[in-house]
Amino acid sequence: MKRKLLDILACPIDKHYPLELFEIRSEGDIVVDGALVCTSCNRFYPIIDEIPVMLPDDLRNKNEDIDFLMKNRDRLPEKIVKQGKPIHLEN
Ligand SMILES: [Zn+2]
Repeated sequence: MKRKLLDILACPIDKHYPLELFEIRSEGDIVVDGALVCTSCNRFYPIIDEIPVMLPDDLRNKNEDIDFLMKNRDRLPEKIVKQGKPIHLEN
């Protein structure tokens, strides 16, 4: 996603704005991989292959979320990996 998209993205659950951005991989003004975090409800939204995946809890793919956290556990803050909603790693 273009970094500038941050100016218009809000949490789909509580509409909190702006979201916090953590970049894992970027190319110029494009964030290729990363995460968006709502500082109000502590939900994270993965950015995978340039696409921010911003779905409500009941439409999220639990296995994909776990894979994402496992893969990036050393590159994302602990508040996402170990405390993020709607799912986080136990250890
Ligand atoms: Zn929220």
